[in-house]
Amino acid sequence: MIFDYLIVGAGFAGSTCARLLADAGKKVLLIDARNHVGGNAYDRVSDHGVLIHEYGLHIFHTNSRQVFDFLSRFTDWNFYEHRVKSFVDGELKQFPPRGEETGNVTDNTSAKSYIISKAGQDIWDRYYRGYTLKQWGRDGADLPASTAARVPVRSDDDDRYFTDRYQVMPRDGYTKMFERMLDHENITTELNTPFSSDLHDNCERIIYTGRPDAYYNYCCGFLPFRNVQFSHETSYSPELKLPAAQLNYPSLDVPFTREYEHRWFTGQRHDWTTITREYAYMDLGSMSPFYPVRNDAGNSIWRKYQALMSADKKVLFTGRLGSFRYYNMDQVVAQSLRITNSATAFRAF
Ligand code: FAD
Repeated sequence: MIFDYLIVGAGFAGSTCARLLADAGKKVLLIDARNHVGGNAYDRVSDHGVLIHEYGLHIFHTNSRQVFDFLSRFTDWNFYEHRVKSFVDGELKQFPPRGEETGNVTDNTSAKSYIISKAGQDIWDRYYRGYTLKQWGRDGADLPASTAARVPVRSDDDDRYFTDRYQVMPRDGYTKMFERMLDHENITTELNTPFSSDLHDNCERIIYTGRPDAYYNYCCGFLPFRNVQFSHETSYSPELKLPAAQLNYPSLDVPFTREYEHRWFTGQRHDWTTITREYAYMDLGSMSPFYPVRNDAGNSIWRKYQALMSADKKVLFTGRLGSFRYYNMDQVVAQSLRITNSATAFRAF
């Protein structure tokens, strides 16, 4: 065997596992089909010199000291608290909105019933209904409560989007942080390299952070995902153009869901600025889709793949795609810390 581990995918899941295993003396081959590390958190400097988040804005926030300490080995941070506004009734309003006094117990039947029980029917209709329809391509009644539980609902005047203990952005960007994380003599990184089964023979174990249905040649059908198309618009503007870092558009008359201006959250000072708009659509089998659709149909396909995965003794599926679960960056790092935490775990999976 040339390597102890083959890791497929150089995003947060794969890169964190690679570094922790390398620190523990294991030889790791890390591959990614894309031409860069960082997965969906990848950022780059554009032709105009603006630092942009290529696959949509990534705001780091966590309550985990352990996750924060691990990543702090590879980056310094800028303090940043995200604030969002929503176009509602022809005006820009604070988002998340302050909920109504519903007095109800949380109803977890669906995304819609969850928000209505937490914040009231009026808030659902004005702030969430249209946004959910555009983002997910289906009514909130057809989506699990977990979809909505990620979106904060407030009962106080706190106008921050997140309330986590650590709210920071990597000072030199995410890509630089990944490059430092992977700079280790036990890690060999190969980009532009999609997984193929002949790689099986090069290693003892595989950690796979891509989509499990692709690994099994879609034998149980396609796992459903939503994807996002980005439209980046760059213009000369030493001053920031948007009144807040992110603006949401719940109206069905506007085709995109949200727009954001990168310099707000990267902290970069520059004469040019880039604003990105997001258009959601149904994934049709792309290599790295974005949002898992965890409705009944999606869960039933997922259970079939879970049965195959748990019988597979050589491969561990993890990360956002490998778990078919919408995880934030810190949750994926925490998951990788757990997997690689002990010598027992190295042998066990
Ligand atoms: P990924 O980042 O998707 O990395 C997987 C990698 O595997 C990819 O690089 C892919 O090319 C590679 N790969 C897949 N299949 C193969 C294959 N067969 N062969 C070789 N390589 C393969 N989280 C936050 O905490 N805050 C945010 O503000 C935030 N905003 C987000 C905005 C958007 C639009 C999206 C989509 C996600 C956002 N997230 C955010 C979530 C965050 O992107 C994920 O938590 C994180 O990227 C998951 O890391 P991962 O390594 O599991 O997956």
